[in-house]
Amino acid sequence: MIIRKAGKIVDGLYALADIDLPAWLVAAETPSLFDAGITFMGPSYLREIRRYLGDESRLRWVFITHAHFDHSGTAPYLKRRIPGLKVAASGLAADIFKKPTAVNLIRSLSRDYEEQHKALFGDENVSFDALEVDRVLADGETVDLGGGWTFRVIATPGHTRDGVSFYFPGIKALICGEAAGVPDRNFKIHPEFLASYRDYVASLEKLTALDVEIIMLSHHYVLTGQDARGYLKKSLESTFAFAERIRGYLASSGGSQESVVKRIFKEDHQDTGAIQQAERPYLINLAAKVKAVAENR
Ligand SMILES: [Zn+2]
Repeated sequence: MIIRKAGKIVDGLYALADIDLPAWLVAAETPSLFDAGITFMGPSYLREIRRYLGDESRLRWVFITHAHFDHSGTAPYLKRRIPGLKVAASGLAADIFKKPTAVNLIRSLSRDYEEQHKALFGDENVSFDALEVDRVLADGETVDLGGGWTFRVIATPGHTRDGVSFYFPGIKALICGEAAGVPDRNFKIHPEFLASYRDYVASLEKLTALDVEIIMLSHHYVLTGQDARGYLKKSLESTFAFAERIRGYLASSGGSQESVVKRIFKEDHQDTGAIQQAERPYLINLAAKVKAVAENR
């Protein structure tokens, strides 16, 4: 099944507020949020957390897949609003959140969205401040949230260097950020190897070995059953195919990365209209993908 709306996924697991952005609530004995969307969603998430937990102050942890603005955005706001709330992420992500340049970038990318969604937060301060990571997650460690909710941390670099995925063996559920590709409106899968093509492939190969019945994709969809089972393999195949296409276009354009970016932007984004990502971030990411393949890293 393809879930396209926020709400209950299974008992105790919820997609909060807007499924286009990642924020997954696990109502375990230690209630926890996985990823934290973009800044402007802060008050909406808070309301949903209150709705599902009865009292938002019960929320103990935010686990973050990677230090991108659309996965960590509301964590500072939630920390301000929920005393005692703690944040966990990889060591590399913790280092990124300490850098003023990275925090400034997150703030600036968030601001465009804040301008467009002012009505959602009114006069509340949703801005992204420095984010202190309270717990550094190690590859392979198991975290127990109580009541049968345990998950494993799996390092999945390639989209970014700091990426981790979370796998819940009890319900065979995977939260993987963009370690798996993002489907467009036609359900064509777009791979997201921004930092390293090779690492991205190695990470996806690792994930395909998991027994998966639920995948909470980075954006737009949750997949269950049959749709979840085949997805990681398809995602890997689309990664190989996309790299092959980039190599072909590079060869026929004399190695010009810029013209390859223009060509793919036209074919995939402009001609189909199926990609839901805005033009500016799409182009920045596409340039990174072409570069990763061109430089064979
Ligand atoms: Zn990302």
